[in-house]
Amino acid sequence: MTTQAMDVTTKAGASAMAIAQVEAHAAHNYHPLPVVLARGEGAWVWDADGRRYLDLLAGYSALNFGHLHPRLVAAAEAQLGRLTLTSRAFHNDLLGTFAVEVTALCGMDMLLPMNTGAEAVETALKMARKWGYERKGVPEGAAKIVVMGGNFHGRTTTIVGFSDDPSARNGFGPFTPGFVRVPFGDVTALAEAIDDETVAVLLEPIQGEGGVVIPPDGYLRAVRALCTERDVLMLADEIQSGLGRTGETFACDHEGVVPDAYILGKALGGGILPVSAVVANRDVMGVFRPGEHGSTFGGNPLACAVGIEVVRMLRTGEYQARARELGEVLWDRLAALPAGQVAAFRARGLWAGIDIVGRTGRDVCEGLLRRGVLAKDTHGSTIRIAPPLVIERSDLEWAIDELAEELRS
Ligand SMILES: *Cc1c(COP(=O)(O)O)cnc(C)c1O
Repeated sequence: MTTQAMDVTTKAGASAMAIAQVEAHAAHNYHPLPVVLARGEGAWVWDADGRRYLDLLAGYSALNFGHLHPRLVAAAEAQLGRLTLTSRAFHNDLLGTFAVEVTALCGMDMLLPMNTGAEAVETALKMARKWGYERKGVPEGAAKIVVMGGNFHGRTTTIVGFSDDPSARNGFGPFTPGFVRVPFGDVTALAEAIDDETVAVLLEPIQGEGGVVIPPDGYLRAVRALCTERDVLMLADEIQSGLGRTGETFACDHEGVVPDAYILGKALGGGILPVSAVVANRDVMGVFRPGEHGSTFGGNPLACAVGIEVVRMLRTGEYQARARELGEVLWDRLAALPAGQVAAFRARGLWAGIDIVGRTGRDVCEGLLRRGVLAKDTHGSTIRIAPPLVIERSDLEWAIDELAEELRS
């Protein structure tokens, strides 16, 4: 046996071992594809056996800049040699710059830094309720927030309580009151749901987990107008749709809409660490006073160092442009998929949901895995395509050709 062959055998054994360990000792709250990733670069990842895969999931958009982007790694490494955590009991020398950069990107005044997306959503909900009591004059305890059918905003008990996905909520009640759900994309239903006690409308401008569901043209503008007219905050969860994915900085930009708050996460951490934030103007964010909200890790200097670099990369506009250009390539390729196998597809920028006929999305994703392409199914028969924005055009074309072959097989 050559050294190389032995290496491979050992590593293949290591993959099986890693999967067995996870199955025995990690909670079964996920059902991963049977691949053990050990290395990544750009849009490519390698398994423990050295086999290469093109990553069409990009960590659900957390990896918009790909794996190990040199600028982001350099920012993190430099900061690792200086200071990583202070808590907010003290100032650190990067939070100010991070706040300046993020608010400038959003065209707003103030930021509240958190870590995960769900924490940022929770922060926005607390902010909206407090704003409702202090500024709108809603009676204490009566605040209502309107959410959308098919939403995904994270996994906390409050958030799953207003989900309509049975697997997200069943068995986890009792739930937090104060939420009303209306169909996504339906302006009339939204208008009817808003009353004097409504403080906010929370929505994803494009629903990611829902299967890349794009609302009808003009919907976001109508939501904005309604929120302004009825004195209700428009909270845009751009955790997955924002930061370049759709070909604009924010999905709201496609309709020229500015919400009252952006909720950001995923790509804000550059695929290196969890970084999230709520961004709003002073008249809204100003409701928080010392002691009323916080996070041990939120705004830590390592997170800020990476987040600052992420925003500086986005401010050049090159990633948004790339998502737009490659998005056209993606659209053309998807439109040419075998018609009998595809019920529908939706796409904006470098982001698509494809509804498969006659097979589960899981089955197609397992087939793609064997072809060296990583993708993730959602809601049974939908495949989501969200490659890193740094993907090469030829690699993208190859991957969609592999998908076409898989669907024909
Ligand atoms: C992923 C996601 C979240 C939750 O983010 P976590 O970091 O997993 O808590 C919230 N909203 C949207 C739209 C998301 O895609």
